[in-house]
Amino acid sequence: MHIIGNDTSSKKGGFPIEPVIAITCSHDQNRQPDQYQLAGAYCRAIKGAGGIPVLLPALDALNRPLGSFCQGLLLSGGGDFDPALFHEAAHGRLGRVDPERDRWEISLIRRACREGLPVFGICRGLQAMNVALGGSLYQDLPSQYRSAGSIPLLEHNQENPGHEVSHQVRIAEDSLLFKIIGAAEIWTNSHHHQAVKDLAPGLTICARSDDGVIEGIEGTGGFFLGVQWHPERLSTPEAVRLFTAFVQACRERKTSDALTESILVSRERMSCDSHEGRNND
Ligand code: MN
Repeated sequence: MHIIGNDTSSKKGGFPIEPVIAITCSHDQNRQPDQYQLAGAYCRAIKGAGGIPVLLPALDALNRPLGSFCQGLLLSGGGDFDPALFHEAAHGRLGRVDPERDRWEISLIRRACREGLPVFGICRGLQAMNVALGGSLYQDLPSQYRSAGSIPLLEHNQENPGHEVSHQVRIAEDSLLFKIIGAAEIWTNSHHHQAVKDLAPGLTICARSDDGVIEGIEGTGGFFLGVQWHPERLSTPEAVRLFTAFVQACRERKTSDALTESILVSRERMSCDSHEGRNND
């Protein structure tokens, strides 16, 4: 369709207005009434990078394309993953699981891949991306992980506050993550006792801590990136760059979505209306 106006069509053919980022959340069913929950830092990070954060709680079914109501998918952190989803029995140190959320996030990730939507996974979100594409997890690092190198398992469940860093991560120089961060080593926070065990086919490891634990994974082509740390809680330039790059990828995604077009048309009408208003003065 043809859209008249100056700022309603993007020069690069991408999404010309603030991209809507769907963010997954947790569901606390032990509280009465029950609550869907998401740490505010995720929303602030997306807002700060120029996106519109929208909570996306688990649905029984989704009968429309993801790309018809958002331009990107952010998988937030949270509880443990149900090991049945990677064909394992529960380990004794497995924490509380929410299989409904697990299945929902797996379906979202697969949909986003099919639709070519940018995906950014944080902590549990990285793990969800790996499981969704056929990988597996350590259910509990301290009792299951054996470091292959000389450095034993680091403390990945830091006691210091989440806005502080606790261990280093080394970044593969041929990765998307390196392109975004611009450094081969960074300090990160760490709030996890699970991690990627078998990497899903088609993904690559882009970051590890010195004990060998996988701290970053990515796909080839497009923005499909997971980090095991929590950049939304950090104010470092590297953390900000991650959200900026993700929202930019969402903004640049081409969309033929009818809803988006209707927004552009109504914007055009508003600008015409105000123009007519000025003529009448
Ligand atoms: Mn860690």
